[in-house]
Amino acid sequence: MKWIVLGWQSPHPGPFGATPGYLVQTASGNLLIDCGSGVVSRLLARVSLADVTAVILSHYHADHVSDLGVLQYAAMMAVQRGERATPLTVYAPRQPEADFARAAYKTYVQAVPIDEDAPLHLAGVTVRFHRTAHPVPCYAVRLDDGERALAYTADTGPDTDWGAFLHDVDLLVAEATYRTADAPAGARGHLTAAEAGALARRYGARRLLLTHLYPGYDADDLVREAQESFAGPVLCARDGLEVSL
Ligand SMILES: [Zn+2]
Ligand SMILES: [Zn+2]
Repeated sequence: MKWIVLGWQSPHPGPFGATPGYLVQTASGNLLIDCGSGVVSRLLARVSLADVTAVILSHYHADHVSDLGVLQYAAMMAVQRGERATPLTVYAPRQPEADFARAAYKTYVQAVPIDEDAPLHLAGVTVRFHRTAHPVPCYAVRLDDGERALAYTADTGPDTDWGAFLHDVDLLVAEATYRTADAPAGARGHLTAAEAGALARRYGARRLLLTHLYPGYDADDLVREAQESFAGPVLCARDGLEVSL
């Protein structure tokens, strides 16, 4: 299983950048997780729409879904041109309802609600979901291929009750929206890099990948802050970064 960073910036893309989107490649398929600004272009640089097994959207904030409309058009063209025999399936939160309704498109894209109690089996991996503390319904994603496991926090504040969801993963992909000095006071729907590191330590992650980063931040600063709480390897997302598990 390979985790490929297509986009990692938030809340907006920097020059020539892209907001969150990740390609998971396995021996038997390709999963697109989140579909932010600029992600479809970068997806198609690697795989054709015919080879996308399914799409997972963690939530409907613009930085995670702003390319959904053009992804739907790409699916339409792939079907109409005979490159794809079946509609594209998008797994996405059931709420808000209006957003869920827009995740489907004609006969080309079908939307299936995410169910925390019903793991999926896609592209040879088991896919589980976990609701996070965020202003809108948002789901973290865990992938297990039988030998290796990874978890993606999606967007989350520090108050998520993780249970066993993040336990013992080979790679934790954690959002790190703020440097500690910039974190707003009071309740918030995002983590600092130091909090991402604390999650990795607490749940025994083998490696940590920081993502969902402000384009103006310096990667070395974020890694340094995460390392204050996590002694294992810390990577910082960048365009095209591939992590093999
Ligand atoms: Zn969000
Ligand atoms: Zn976000």
